[in-house]
Amino acid sequence: MTMIPERPLPAPIVDVFTAPFWQAASEGVLLIRRCKACGEAHWYPRPFCPHCASDDTQWVPASGRGTIYSFTVARKAGPVPYVLAYVTLDEGVTMLTNLVDGEVEALHIGQRVQVTFRAGEGGAAIAVFTPCTTP
Ligand SMILES: [Zn+2]
Repeated sequence: MTMIPERPLPAPIVDVFTAPFWQAASEGVLLIRRCKACGEAHWYPRPFCPHCASDDTQWVPASGRGTIYSFTVARKAGPVPYVLAYVTLDEGVTMLTNLVDGEVEALHIGQRVQVTFRAGEGGAAIAVFTPCTTP
């Protein structure tokens, strides 16, 4: 059994557009963007909807739950191995993220995961995912 190790996470670049995202993250809430014109969610966050090009988009809280679409265990990238994954949130968007906690050997595509937060360099809360303890 190999537990997923922790590694330093780089500090985010915070600007006027992303400041609400990072503020919510510091309060333990994952935000995504949703278009008010067509109703579709999107990730990564953009001020324009990639589905209909409307600029009428807003931050909305995500459930924080999703499934592993794909993942890789990076064992030779540095002194600490880590797990990168594409996680598809229940809202339908897929985000590149880090997996933490859990057993490396037990990870699998389709596995349910939930958001948690880790302090990145500089102290900002970084959204990462961990295996769900409930379905
Ligand atoms: Zn739209």
